[in-house]
Amino acid sequence: MKIYKCSFCGSPIPPGFGITYVKKDGTILRFCSRKCFVSMIKYGRDPRKLAWVRKRLNKLMRAQAPKKAKTAKSK
Ligand SMILES: [Zn+2]
Repeated sequence: MKIYKCSFCGSPIPPGFGITYVKKDGTILRFCSRKCFVSMIKYGRDPRKLAWVRKRLNKLMRAQAPKKAKTAKSK
């Protein structure tokens, strides 16, 4: 099963969770939570301007950084 990323905040969505939204033009948007769904579709917010999105992204970046270093050493 593929793990998709949230279209709004970028966090990974575990299988069986989240909301999938299909626009009129056919683009598929996946959201991890109702909070992300409402922020993008209803309020049209910019994720870069929201503190809680930046916090989540920073967490993800911190989690991914050591993994990349390990793979680089093994090669
Ligand atoms: Zn999200």
